[in-house]
Amino acid sequence: MTRPLHCENLPLTDLAEQFGTPLYVYSQNALTKAFSAYTDAFAAQQPLVCYAVKANGNLSILKHFAALGSGFDIVSGGELARVLAAGGDAGKTIFSGVGKSEAEIEFALEAGVLCFNVESLPELDRINAVAARLGKTAPVSLRINPDVDAKTHPYISTGLKANKFGIAYADALDAYRYAASLGRLNIVGIDCHIGSQLIDLSPLQEACERILLLVDQLAAEGIVLQHIDLGGGVGIIYQNENQPDLAGYAAAVQRLFAGRPQTLILEPGRSLVGNAGTLLTKVEFVKHGEEKNFVIVDAAMNDLMRPALYDAYHHIEAVVPKAIPPFTADIVGPICETGDFLGKARTLTCEAGDLLAIRSAGAYAASMASNYNTRNRAAEVLVNGSSVQQIRRRETIEQQLANESACL
Ligand SMILES: *Cc1c(COP(=O)(O)O)cnc(C)c1O
Repeated sequence: MTRPLHCENLPLTDLAEQFGTPLYVYSQNALTKAFSAYTDAFAAQQPLVCYAVKANGNLSILKHFAALGSGFDIVSGGELARVLAAGGDAGKTIFSGVGKSEAEIEFALEAGVLCFNVESLPELDRINAVAARLGKTAPVSLRINPDVDAKTHPYISTGLKANKFGIAYADALDAYRYAASLGRLNIVGIDCHIGSQLIDLSPLQEACERILLLVDQLAAEGIVLQHIDLGGGVGIIYQNENQPDLAGYAAAVQRLFAGRPQTLILEPGRSLVGNAGTLLTKVEFVKHGEEKNFVIVDAAMNDLMRPALYDAYHHIEAVVPKAIPPFTADIVGPICETGDFLGKARTLTCEAGDLLAIRSAGAYAASMASNYNTRNRAAEVLVNGSSVQQIRRRETIEQQLANESACL
């Protein structure tokens, strides 16, 4: 038999046997390496790397990043609860997002987050009011929309004028003046986030230049910032993308930051976890059709939504390659939606009962899972060398039904 695919030292076949499928498998080593890529590239700046929890919020993954010295970027009170449960430091946690509720703001103030990344003037008012009610001062940074084109998928491009995110560049100085006029706010920083899955990093550099221009204008008005947050991380290789030039970007940032006292903050998500994860799935049936072949697997769009949501590509390969003729098929799940596909027109060799590895499934994968079609969410395991830990049990139907009642 051919050697099966491995995660670190463990064969994926063994993991499927032990934990069942569909199964998310993460490499701890890959998480560490991805984190070090940032701290190494930006070593001159000694940045605070705030892992974006929404990419993958599993408690063990958060705990691992916390142990590496990471802070966190959160977008909800729920994510703050995760960070705290994982032993993360609230003082290294920044709260992003356009729609923070009063309850979430109160929770974050009580926990002592590093700052709120504020996206509108009414949000400034709300944070000020909650802080006043609690007798506290709220640390704030304004998310400015630098109006540069990230050249990525429209659904994950966030830095253009037409997006719901951030405060318009032209309104930035007035927004800071307004924040300074509110008694319960402490202005600590500035931030931007222009989009995700960036391969060409020149828009990131351009955004940095535009943000630094504002930092200087603010300083001239006596508004001195403690940190500059350049937002999310670089893209990853899903298919045949070029390797983003992280070192080149870091060197540009270093040049632009020369002589500045501010702390650099980065908020990478995808690039810290994306290629550390594989979704392991079993072939249920191979269905040869007149026009098309289908490989029907036990994972579906509820487990991995990115193909359905963004038409995203994930590399798919047989865990144990077979000496049978390859054929071309769509890899689909059992869900009653035509959009329920994991890969289209893939050429591979497999039969019913075989295992497939869906690659680059560490980011925006398990964290986007749902119960659609009343499917239990998948289990997750973390591999470290030759050892494996289950970091999320497979959901049960009892858990799914627990909050419902048949009361009529
Ligand atoms: C999603 C998000 C990130 C993470 O982006 P990646 O592309 O996954 O690195 C960072 N900051 C904010 C505000 C986000 O919304």
